[in-house]
Amino acid sequence: MTKRYCRYSVLLILLLSGACSPAAERTAPPAPSPSEPRTGNATKATPTPAPAPRPLSSSEPAAPAERRVTLAAVGDVLIHRTIYEDARTQRSYDFNPVFEAVRPHLEGADVTFANQESITGGTALGLSDYPAFNSPFEAADALRDAGVDIVSMANNHTLDRGEQAVRQAIRHWKRLGVEYAGASETEADRQRLRIVERNGLKLAFVAWTYGTNGIPRPPGKPYLVHLLEQERAFQQEIAEAKKQADAVVASLHFGTEYIRLPSEQQRKWARLAAAAGADVILGHHPHVLQPLEWIDNGNGGRTLVAYSLGNFLAAQKKPGPHVRIGGILKAELRKPIGASGGKAAVVIGGVRFLPTYVRFQAWRGYLVIPLSQASEAELPGVRSIREEIANHMRRWLPELLVD
Ligand SMILES: [Zn+2]
Repeated sequence: MTKRYCRYSVLLILLLSGACSPAAERTAPPAPSPSEPRTGNATKATPTPAPAPRPLSSSEPAAPAERRVTLAAVGDVLIHRTIYEDARTQRSYDFNPVFEAVRPHLEGADVTFANQESITGGTALGLSDYPAFNSPFEAADALRDAGVDIVSMANNHTLDRGEQAVRQAIRHWKRLGVEYAGASETEADRQRLRIVERNGLKLAFVAWTYGTNGIPRPPGKPYLVHLLEQERAFQQEIAEAKKQADAVVASLHFGTEYIRLPSEQQRKWARLAAAAGADVILGHHPHVLQPLEWIDNGNGGRTLVAYSLGNFLAAQKKPGPHVRIGGILKAELRKPIGASGGKAAVVIGGVRFLPTYVRFQAWRGYLVIPLSQASEAELPGVRSIREEIANHMRRWLPELLVD
C-alpha cells in the first residue's frame, strides 16, 4: 500500500485495525542490527503464535512489545532551471518521472523527510534559478507522490523570493498534507510543534538554517524562517519537543559547501542538539555527502548524526561527481510499549544508506537513481566511486550498511 493511499484511508484502516506498514512488519520481532546500541533488549522479541493454546500463567512475563517506525531522509532538492524546463509539459510541469527509480525507497519508509531547498512558490510568482530560486508547485506534488511526508523549509534560499514565496509554498504543502518544518506563516504557527505520528510513535521535527544568504527576515516576522541563533533557545526548543514526542528529529542546514567533512560549527550544533535530546540529526547544505556518526547525548543514549546528506536532486555546474551523489538514509526507531509509562528512550537501529545519483545528459532527462544503477559510460570509474562513497559514509560508523 502506498503512503498516499494510506493517508486517504486512515479511517478505513483504523476500522480494519491495519496500519501503513505490512502486518508482518508490525508483528515480527526486530531483526538484530549491527548498528544497534547494546541495550540488553536484543533478545526481546514478540513471540510467534503458539501452535496450541496453553493456559496463561501469571508467573510468565508478558511478551515485551514495542512500537517502531522506519525513517527515510534525503538531502537537498534544488530545482535548477534546466530541471524545471525538462519537467515542462504542454500546460504544466511533471516531476514524477524524476523520482520513479527511488520511489520504493521513499515510499517504503513510514516517515520520509526531504530538504526542499528551492522554495516552491509556484509559477504565478515567476519561476527562477540560482541565485534566487522559485520552483513550481508540481515539484512539491512529485515529492509528495514519491512518498515524502515532511520537508524542511529552513535553508539559505528560504527568503530568495521574499515572504510571498514562503507563504505560497506553505499553503501548497498544507494543501498536499505534507508537514513542513523550519518556516512558519505566523507566530502561532512558529509555536506549533511539528509531529508526525506513525504506528503509535510520535516523531517531532524541528528545523533551522545557519542563514539566508544575507537576506534579512521582514521586520516583526522572525517566524518566516527558523535561524540557528541562540544556543539556549535552540536547546530549549529541542527539549520541549522531546517532552511532547517519543523522538526528536532535528534538521540542520549548515556546514561548508563542497567540503566532505563536517566543520567545527556543524559539530558544535550537533553536540548541542544531541545534549538537548535530539535522537536523529539530518544535516544538509554542503551539496556533498559527509560521513555518519553516533554521538553520545550525555544521558546514556546516543544520537544518529548525518552531517550532510548531499544533493538529492540538483543540476549544479560543478566539476566532479560529488554534487550529483546523494543518498537515502534509513533508520528504525523503536520504543518498548507500556511498562515505563512512555518514558523509555527510543532505540535507533537498522541504519542503512542508499547512495543515489542524479542522472542527466546535456542538462536534460533528469532522474534520481540508486548509484548502483549508474553505468560506467555515464560515470567513469563508477565501481571505485561507489566503494569510496561507502567507505566515506562508514568512516565513523563502520557497521553502516551501504546499499
Ligand atoms: Zn543550502
